[in-house]
Amino acid sequence: MESIFGYMESYDYENLLLCQDKALDFKAIIAIHDTTLGPAAGGCRMWQYDSEMDAIEDALRLARGMTYKYAAAGVNLGGGKTVIMGDPKRKDREPIFRALGKFINRLGGKYITGEDVGTTLQDMEYIRMETEYVVTLPTYLGGAGDIAPMTAFGVIRAMQACCKRVYGSDNLEGKRVTVQGLGAVGHNVIEQLHELGAKLVVTDIDPEKIEAMVARYDVDKVDPDAIYDVECDIFCPCALGAVICDETLARMRCKIISGSANNQLKEERHGGLLEQKGMVYAPDYIANAGGTIYDTDRLCVGGVSHKRGKEKVSRIYQNMERVFEIANRDKISTCLAAERMAEERIRKIAEVKKYVDDLKP
Ligand code: NAD
Repeated sequence: MESIFGYMESYDYENLLLCQDKALDFKAIIAIHDTTLGPAAGGCRMWQYDSEMDAIEDALRLARGMTYKYAAAGVNLGGGKTVIMGDPKRKDREPIFRALGKFINRLGGKYITGEDVGTTLQDMEYIRMETEYVVTLPTYLGGAGDIAPMTAFGVIRAMQACCKRVYGSDNLEGKRVTVQGLGAVGHNVIEQLHELGAKLVVTDIDPEKIEAMVARYDVDKVDPDAIYDVECDIFCPCALGAVICDETLARMRCKIISGSANNQLKEERHGGLLEQKGMVYAPDYIANAGGTIYDTDRLCVGGVSHKRGKEKVSRIYQNMERVFEIANRDKISTCLAAERMAEERIRKIAEVKKYVDDLKP
């Protein structure tokens, strides 16, 4: 990125805020991409960046990703993100997260933060001491608690919509699913797929996690790298990003990819290559939106309701159907169709919002 304003203009960003406190050794960047649909929301990442420009670019890029995620999910929130420049293992966390809470509070609700890479639920509690504009909180602070089960549920709803497209039925019973990564989301995916009667093959780099799944459910296991060679109906990546690349695509023998990992495609072109191989791909930010849909539901309507939240997450199925419609209509990949779906929604809601509620001058 050579010019900050140039970059902001090219993707139509609204705001970029720099926050610092020398005594606390605190430096943070808040990026707000688009608030057409509602206040910007997006987590707070803590990371050691090589340069300030790298940190700014990361905040801006991630904020834009959140705009697309919420727009495509049908949620009335815009996209934002915070990055704190610093060691994510830093010990004295209360002062810096409370300072961040103060800065966020000044924005009066224009931006809502949450947990992300390098930050913890405890950090969110510190932020909550200074502002109400924070999600990913435990239930005892009015939050939704652990969202991983809902992320897993959303991934499975996307999977079901993909099955309907490929097999004409969304029944997962008997479908062979490979699950990569048995962490917070992955183990919930296994639990829920097991109940739906899927046949499971699992892997993780942590052998203890594999053994725990094998002991608990009727699942097969493979070594981490061997997961790409397993013949299956569905590959469910729930570990790292960039797992879909030239090398793995040449090996994969699945019909569907639907998982929770962020940024699954190593490069954008891999979205097109998938389609050429006849695979159906659930774009990551559509499939993995369940947790945040559930978590932010209380902001839009008021109060946590498990039933309502789950129902909204369930609509990921319909969101995928819409992605397929656009992909068919415009003869494009599901990745491009998801982007188009988000952009169309923002454009149309902007149209609705031009009508003023209060006609007083
Ligand atoms: P986690 O850290 O709890 O679990 C990740 C698991 O992947 C760990 O068990 C780890 O050992 C394993 N792993 C790492 N590298 C691996 C490899 N090469 N092969 C196999 N296993 C490997 O993380 P999580 O919260 O379950 O999230 C999983 C992914 O989903 C991440 O990419 C995350 O960004 C994304 N995601 C999570 C949520 C959520 O609600 N937690 C929401 C949206 C997106």
